[in-house]
Amino acid sequence: MISALEIVRVPAFNDNYLWLVHDPDSGETAVVDPGDATSVLAAADARGWTIGQVWNTHWHPDHTGGNLAVKSASGATISGPRSESAKIPGLEIALSEGDQVRLGAHMGEVWAVPGHTLGHIALIFRDAGVAFVGDTLFAMGCGRLFEGTPAQMFNSLNRLATLPPETAIYCAHEYTLSNARFAAHVEPANRAIATRFAEVEQARAEGRATVPTTIAQEAATNPFLLASDEAEFARRRAAKDSFG
Ligand code: ZN
Ligand code: FE
Repeated sequence: MISALEIVRVPAFNDNYLWLVHDPDSGETAVVDPGDATSVLAAADARGWTIGQVWNTHWHPDHTGGNLAVKSASGATISGPRSESAKIPGLEIALSEGDQVRLGAHMGEVWAVPGHTLGHIALIFRDAGVAFVGDTLFAMGCGRLFEGTPAQMFNSLNRLATLPPETAIYCAHEYTLSNARFAAHVEPANRAIATRFAEVEQARAEGRATVPTTIAQEAATNPFLLASDEAEFARRRAAKDSFG
């Protein structure tokens, strides 16, 4: 029997979530997307954990800016997408589709999920029922298309949607309220969206996080997964970019 992963949310900047991942059996700890080192080192220290691995989903500085400081504090190895190696500070282990990361006995599959950036990866821990998706799939939303095409992002999102419905989705930003407003605007007749919008408003008014989400929740309320085809996805993504 292997123990469940312990996952700790570490807020940073305005709306980023950095994730500490701890395996109680081996005592190993990883951090996903440490844009800031101080906050994750403090959170690990408070629990008596030492960060042994950094896992980057993509090169953006709000996800990688703390890499070198985490490494110098704890000696962590730094893993991230191979095709973004040159832009990721300290990258030592280059990951591509089909590779694996390990934390004790827990294995994470590396999926290529291009769209937000071209090299963006997700880490899928099937046994734990957990996926770290960076800026690809958000609660009720998805990442902006800075590098990829609408077709790439549409495929990436729909691939993530094939995970079991109960899979917990750990994304890198608290954008849910803004996403919910847009979702309600483009899917005005969708009751599940209206209900979740109200729940998200309440949660944020009380200062509660709305992440992680699940594949089941996203399948029902994410307007980008509800898009009927690539063209509708592309229209919605463009509309969200300029939505109030
Ligand atoms: Zn990003
Ligand atoms: Fe980001």
